[in-house]
Amino acid sequence: MPLPYTAKQLQAAVHTGFSVALKCSGGSNASYIPYLASVDPNLIAVTIVTVDGNTFAAGDSQYQFAIESISKVFTLALVMDQVGSPALRAKVGANPTGMPFNSVMALELAKGKPMSPLVNAGAISTASLVSGKTPDERWQKILATQSAFAGRDLVLSSEINQSEQTTNFHNRAIAWLLYSAGTCYSDPIEALDIYTRQCSTLISTTDLAVMGATLANKGKNPITGKQVIGAENVRHILAEMMMEGLYTASGDFAYTVGLPGKSGVGGGILAVAPGKLAIAGFSPPLDANGNSVRGQAAVKSIAEELKLNLFEA
Ligand code: GLU
Repeated sequence: MPLPYTAKQLQAAVHTGFSVALKCSGGSNASYIPYLASVDPNLIAVTIVTVDGNTFAAGDSQYQFAIESISKVFTLALVMDQVGSPALRAKVGANPTGMPFNSVMALELAKGKPMSPLVNAGAISTASLVSGKTPDERWQKILATQSAFAGRDLVLSSEINQSEQTTNFHNRAIAWLLYSAGTCYSDPIEALDIYTRQCSTLISTTDLAVMGATLANKGKNPITGKQVIGAENVRHILAEMMMEGLYTASGDFAYTVGLPGKSGVGGGILAVAPGKLAIAGFSPPLDANGNSVRGQAAVKSIAEELKLNLFEA
C-alpha cells in the first residue's frame, strides 16, 4: 500500500520539526563519559526514512555521533533471532523497570533479573547471549547486525570506546551482580566489553533513520532490500521500545507521541511508525531523564504533523 503522504509533505514535516527543535533550549551533554561532554552542543539533525526507501533530512544529518543506548535495540534483535523471543524473555525479561537505565536497585528488587533488554543490566545480559566461539566473533556479529540495519559498514570509534572502557565502573558492578545472580550468560567482563563496544559505534541521523525504517518495514532494510531479522520478532522489539525506550520518560513518550522509540546519552533519538517510516533526531543536550531535548521536540512535532500516533484510530 502506498504511503499516505507526498514527498512534499514529508519534507515539510522534517523542516517544521527541525525549526521547532531549534527554538528549544536547555539540557546539557552527558558528562559521565568524557567524550560525550566534548561534543558540540549546537549540532542538530533530523531525518525521516520511509519504508519505500525515501530520505528527508535537515541540519547536520551526516554528522556521526555515538550510538550509545540505541545499540541495545539491535543487539536485542540479533539475540532474539538467535535464541527466539520466549527464551530471551525468560532469561532477560520484558517489562519496564520504572527506574534509571543504570539502576542497581531495579536489579536487586527483581532478584537479579534485568527485566528489560533496553536498560544497562538487560543489555549486558543480552550481549552475554550472543553466540560465537570467541569474544571477537560475538562482537563482529553485533557490528554486522548494526551495519545490516544501517545499510552500510558502521565502524567502532576507538576514541569513544576508550573513553567508555576507562570510566565504566558502574557498569562493571552491574555485570558482576548479573553474574552472581546467574543472569549473565558468559564471562561478565567479556559481556561488558562487548556491550561497551556496541555503544561506541558512529552513526548519523540518516543511518539511524534507515535502521528504524528497517524495523518499520518488518525487518527488511528499505535501502538494501535485505531481510535483516525475522519479521516475526519486530513486534516484540517495538513493544520493548514502547515500554523502556526513553528511560524513565518512556510512559510520557507513549502518552504524548504514541510511537516506539529509543534514545541514547549521545543525543540520538529514534521513533518508529510501523509500516510507514522512522524518524531520527540528534542534538547532544539531554534533559533530566537522559533524553535529547531538541531531539524529542523534533520527533514530537513530526509525529503530530504526520498523525503517526499508534493509539489514534
Ligand atoms: N554506554 C552508555 C552506558 O552504558 C550508554 C547509556 C545510554 O545511552 O543510555 O552508560
